Amino acid sequence: MGLIVQKFGGSSVAEVEKIRLCAKRARDAREAGHDVVVVVSAMGKTTDRLIELAREANPDLPKRELDMLLSTGEVLSAALMSMALQAMDLPAISFTGQQVGVSTTDSHTRARIASIDANRMRTHLDEGKVVVVAGFQGVNRTGDITTLGRGGSDLTAVALAAALKADVCEIYTDVDGVYTTDTRIVPEARKLDRISYEQMLELASLGAKVMHPRAVLCGRNFNVPIHVRHSHRPDEGTMIVAETPEMEQIVVSGAALKSDIGRVTLAGVPNTPRTAETIFRRVAEDEIFVDDIIQNEIGSGLVTISFTVEHAELADAGPCAQRIVDELGNGTVHIDVGLAKVSVVGVGMRSHTGVAATMFRALGDADVNIRNITTSEIKISCIIDKADGEKALRTVHEAFELSQAPNQTAAAR
Ligand code: ASP
Ligand code: MG
Repeated sequence: MGLIVQKFGGSSVAEVEKIRLCAKRARDAREAGHDVVVVVSAMGKTTDRLIELAREANPDLPKRELDMLLSTGEVLSAALMSMALQAMDLPAISFTGQQVGVSTTDSHTRARIASIDANRMRTHLDEGKVVVVAGFQGVNRTGDITTLGRGGSDLTAVALAAALKADVCEIYTDVDGVYTTDTRIVPEARKLDRISYEQMLELASLGAKVMHPRAVLCGRNFNVPIHVRHSHRPDEGTMIVAETPEMEQIVVSGAALKSDIGRVTLAGVPNTPRTAETIFRRVAEDEIFVDDIIQNEIGSGLVTISFTVEHAELADAGPCAQRIVDELGNGTVHIDVGLAKVSVVGVGMRSHTGVAATMFRALGDADVNIRNITTSEIKISCIIDKADGEKALRTVHEAFELSQAPNQTAAAR
């Protein structure tokens, strides 16, 4: 007997009929003797629709009011979920984020959770109720409702699991787990039984949309086991857990493709100890999300610095780069569009050599030109042309034999 937090995403609760199916999941866990906290997202595309309504009312989208509005989507699901549970004769009670003491930072539409007061939930759990909580929201110091950023219900669930010291946080979604790569591009991709928080974070930052990266980070920081699984299928999904020694045996465990990347190059800017700092301070001030940074010394006191961003950021990033070059007093700005990034991820890279060589050989054999390379301890990424993206992903997936079960591949090496 333990405590389980179950989170149901928007597609899983898109209709009342689906909410009833999710409620059965909660009932099964209750009947197995567990305490259950259910966290829900807004039904289907509700949040998108609410944003459209807001835009009609005021194109400036005033943030405090937007949070008031968006938080209602999750409240609606929570109330319906609690009703559905009660209709199955299961005692249940729904709460807003504020009611269960989710305190956040001040910043509307992108607040961070500061603390959670688990007492109220505990009281109701001890009375045998299923506690249903509206995800994605909290309350700031002023007492105003905040939201946690798109996809934030995952974070609510993991943070509640941490606060309640739950045994597991189950993330129910419309995929049945975490795969070695995107199954739409590589149909033979394989579902992973387990993956470490670090690898999941890398895959998430590379565009795997299974879970919100901040939720994975929260899970890692508080050591909450996370089980990603399909809402309406019985099979086990993927466990996201702390790294174990045997994970290191597997050199590469996943591959990812991120498309629509742009590269902003500041060529021939003065090479001083302050250059990089100036550039990235200005970029941060403009709230531009930078992906990778590449620096090359080009001699005669000059340096070329590039950074990659998602296409959506280019409208701001281009003018920002031009202002920086003007400020630095020398250099030119070049923008490349239509790029993609193909990456391989695995904790085994720390202790195995030759991963980069294998990846580059595979891409070379497939005639994929590499424009830039970046690495981390557990990741190798190549910037390539977007047109080569899917071919490159299939190529590296095959080169590392990712569709085969890990014990076989580990043995083969
Ligand atoms: N409903 C919110 C969104 O669509 C939060 C979530 O689903 O996690 O972004
Ligand atoms: Mg979601």
